[in-house]
Amino acid sequence: MLAAVAAVPRERFVAPGDVERAWDNRALGIACGQTISQPLVVARMCEALAPAPGARVLDVGTGSGYHAAVLAALGADVVSVEIVPELSVQAAANLAAAGIDGIELVVGDGRAGHPPRAPYDGICVAATADREIPRALLDQLASGGRLVAPIRSGRRERLVLVTRDAGGALARQDLDEVRFVPLV
Ligand code: SAH
Repeated sequence: MLAAVAAVPRERFVAPGDVERAWDNRALGIACGQTISQPLVVARMCEALAPAPGARVLDVGTGSGYHAAVLAALGADVVSVEIVPELSVQAAANLAAAGIDGIELVVGDGRAGHPPRAPYDGICVAATADREIPRALLDQLASGGRLVAPIRSGRRERLVLVTRDAGGALARQDLDEVRFVPLV
């Protein structure tokens, strides 16, 4: 995990004025009022997702492309969906500048998942859903698959890990308290 984080040049994914601060353990602003997630939170989510090499992973909320890049550094086969076209274009440029290829970027509403490549061994969501994980995402989770997403209930916002067992049943576990932008 730490090797994957160290392998991705985070400074390529932040705004030009933030290069000096790129590795601070905090979220930083990118374009369109969005943020690049805090490095420790990306690491924590990747750890909970635990993708095996070659695992098919859906990343919802491409943003800067940083989280997708760390997943790819872990050996996952990543498809990443972003709702703001401009951010997806910038993420493509960031990934190219970082010398990372093989990530499929899709512009669309990640609440619908990405059916063409479903089911996914891993799904990670970088924007907070209100109370419920979108049904389409759970439906696109493979047997043995793991989903990590921030969920808000009332004033609390926490990461949840949902696993689907070999029989198809879903189980949910609460992880850390976090703060993300809303899933829109
Ligand atoms: N993973 C990103 C963090 C991005 S912040 C990174 O490493 O930089 C969350 C992102 O989710 C924002 O870019 C926002 O535009 C996007 N987003 C919000 N709602 C979405 C939706 N319904 N579908 C896809 N992306 C969404």
